[in-house]
Amino acid sequence: METFDIAKIRADFPILKRSVNGKPLVYFDNGATTQKPQQVIDAIVNYYADMNSNVHRGVHYLSQISTDAFEVTRRKVQAFIHAKHEHEVIITKGTTEAINIIATCYGRPFIGEGDEIIISAMEHHSNIVPWQMLCDEKGCKLHVIPMNEQGELNMEAYRSLFSERTKLVSFTYVSNALGTINPVKEMIDIAHEWQVPVLIDAAQAIQHVKIDVQELDVDFLAFSGHKMYGPTGVGVLYGKEELLNKMPPYQGGGDMIKEVTFEKTTYNELPFKFEAGTPNIEAGICLAHAIDYIDSIGVDAIKAYEDELLTYATTALSKIEGIRFIGTAAHKSSVISFVVDGIHPYDIGVLLDKLGIAVRTGHHCAQPVMSQFGIPGTVRVSLAMYNTKEEVDVLIAGLERAIGMLK
Ligand code: PMP
Repeated sequence: METFDIAKIRADFPILKRSVNGKPLVYFDNGATTQKPQQVIDAIVNYYADMNSNVHRGVHYLSQISTDAFEVTRRKVQAFIHAKHEHEVIITKGTTEAINIIATCYGRPFIGEGDEIIISAMEHHSNIVPWQMLCDEKGCKLHVIPMNEQGELNMEAYRSLFSERTKLVSFTYVSNALGTINPVKEMIDIAHEWQVPVLIDAAQAIQHVKIDVQELDVDFLAFSGHKMYGPTGVGVLYGKEELLNKMPPYQGGGDMIKEVTFEKTTYNELPFKFEAGTPNIEAGICLAHAIDYIDSIGVDAIKAYEDELLTYATTALSKIEGIRFIGTAAHKSSVISFVVDGIHPYDIGVLLDKLGIAVRTGHHCAQPVMSQFGIPGTVRVSLAMYNTKEEVDVLIAGLERAIGMLK
């Protein structure tokens, strides 16, 4: 039975007890990375204290238990996103590496000169630059789905971007800069009408929204462990078996081979074909504990709580004079971006930090979004399951104070 006990949840995150600049920490930079519950921290300590050993290599006991624990993560991820096969789950360094794997291993062999790739106007740089690099190399073209003033993608324009030359669509589920939740199912269905595979960047969605890759019928999905209460240095690339099977490996090295001679090398099967070298074992193993933690509360319960907090914070912020929201989509998740008339976002960030409040300021690795809105950056408040209305009240008081000083 899922329950949402905010006091218990907060007690699980030791960092929330600390102070910053003499004030209790109020952490609203969850879009950048989330804090870790004691359960994940304990698992990290336990890994090094009790089982440290390389995976997929040794016959000895420690190697076997660390390998087993690493493979538990794969199965947990499989269940979490409802993948059909566990070998469709590739353990990566994070979202960025997952997207680069597709740009390299799907892009290079299957996208050629004059072909077209569709991305959206609200992408993180990690879902823009790999495609530009591919386009430079192969002579293919990048098309961008435009968005309106609210930060919502234009579906008519999206439909009109398809042609016989479209080879891949890649866009974000939730915008890290605006909070927009895109209509992913509808967008995937449109791409599939053209038999075009779709990659979803789920870096800002996986910790807030229930994702079922089979229901979505998505071809590739990428996300990071550190944004879902897990360790840094680990992430996931999900891919449909038939697509992953026809792709060449990403990097060459140990683990990704079946047999090596100086004449010829044969490659390992999925998922190991894409996992060359020693992975971040500790992070890989401990991602399972982050998933267990989320599951113990339930993604739907987390979403319901965060939605309520988002509404509360948006209403409270809208009462502050001079505030302008950047991103006012009808469907949003956990991110509030704003600017204040006549004040640079950075100055607000610095003053809030003096009050122990962590927000992000700047372009959030989404410079084209900032260009569209004609601003250098925003102040971004991004929420997690452990944030509270009381913390929002502290933010509002801090903002009023900061604005009063800066005006
Ligand atoms: N996409 C989105 C939407 C993101 O928010 C981020 C992280 N800010 C990334 C991709 C990149 O994730 P990572 O740095 O963990 O690889």
